Amino acid sequence: MFVDIARVDLKAGRGGDGAVAFRREKYEPAGGPAGGDGGNGGNIYIVADEGTRTLGDYHYKRYYHAENGEPGRNKGQFGKAGDDLYLYVPVGTLIKDFKTDTVIYDMREEGEEFLICKGGAGGKGNRRFKSSTRQAPKFAEPGKQGEEKTILLEIKLISDVGLVGLPNVGKSTILSILSNARPKIDNYHFTTLIPNLGVVDLGDGNSFVLADVPGMIEGASKGVGLGLEFLKHLERTGLLVHVIDMSGSEGRDPIDDYNLIRKELRDYDERLDERKEIIVANKKDLPGFEKNLKEFKREFPELEIIEISAATTENVNILKNKIWESLKDIDFEYEYFDEDYVEPEVEEVEPFTIEKSGEFYIVEGPFVDDLVYRTNFEKDASIKYFQKVLADQGIVEKLREIGAEDGDTVI
Ligand code: GDP
Ligand code: MG
Repeated sequence: MFVDIARVDLKAGRGGDGAVAFRREKYEPAGGPAGGDGGNGGNIYIVADEGTRTLGDYHYKRYYHAENGEPGRNKGQFGKAGDDLYLYVPVGTLIKDFKTDTVIYDMREEGEEFLICKGGAGGKGNRRFKSSTRQAPKFAEPGKQGEEKTILLEIKLISDVGLVGLPNVGKSTILSILSNARPKIDNYHFTTLIPNLGVVDLGDGNSFVLADVPGMIEGASKGVGLGLEFLKHLERTGLLVHVIDMSGSEGRDPIDDYNLIRKELRDYDERLDERKEIIVANKKDLPGFEKNLKEFKREFPELEIIEISAATTENVNILKNKIWESLKDIDFEYEYFDEDYVEPEVEEVEPFTIEKSGEFYIVEGPFVDDLVYRTNFEKDASIKYFQKVLADQGIVEKLREIGAEDGDTVI
């Protein structure tokens, strides 16, 4: 089945911690600080890729984590940055915020890369905290967390021209003749389940994208079969090429066929009803074609019809040029989705805050969260370091300023 929506959880890499280290010199037992910076965490990018056709991969693997940065090392050496992660999606995929369902970005151009989650910065090593009053800082900055997001990927194919028509009228055959696409051609009514896209090259540097939109059967606009799945891909096509089996080779009446498809388009979206249409009478090589065509013209005298045989390729080039001429006249606008997206404002947070609450003192904020997270409270050395950082950062002093005494509880 054609997967065109996927929810994925993303987490960029965490920055590596800055190192605490000292130079060891022969005549100087404790040399200057020499702890290097941690490496930055890997970013996550989403890439629009013509070779990727579905979101199927994201259905099976839903969690993606870019590599963490490595911690800094001694002798001032930087930690290695985490590798970036690239997630490939088909051209025409919308990236949405899962919670709000708003569009973050519209991946509309081949090769385009969008930075979705930024890796956390590496922490500074103790070397960088040296100052005139602090010759031997015994602390370093922890690495920052990478950005985390839950997003929804949704495909809306971008194509200039959509081939529509009932099953078996010859859409896939036409696509394969006109374009570089090699769709599956079956003599079945199930036909293709994935809309096939092909680039039609006019040989003079011009080209257009042609999409074979299967699944158009009676009731498609009401959700029969996979009708809706495919109809929505037409939202972004500017021109419809309506293919009819004019030979009636399957015992159907071309006039009924035409009316049926027009009705499904109209019922799905009135805007599709107004879209410019080229009518293709296919299977000119089969008996019955001429007779049906005459009746069709009598019924719809105002319609311009192109007669072709996809089997013998008769008039197929005429069709190609006709499509190109019509495209030039169309001044349609794609529906773009990301123009209004405003990045939610990120509040600047204090590294820590200290306040008195009843008989307790509360110290909170990302700095202390991280410090607590990194402290092993079962190890003396680690607890000493913890207390040292609290003192060095002025937290102990501030606690005393607002009245804390030895023996009080600090949360
Ligand atoms: P789709 O379902 O509209 O994509 O139709 P296909 O392209 O898969 O074609 C359905 C069947 O009709 C296949 O067996 C094709 O070989 C055949 N077909 C397509 N075009 C022609 C044509 O112009 N003449 C004849 N005789 N057969 C055709
Ligand atoms: Mg087909």
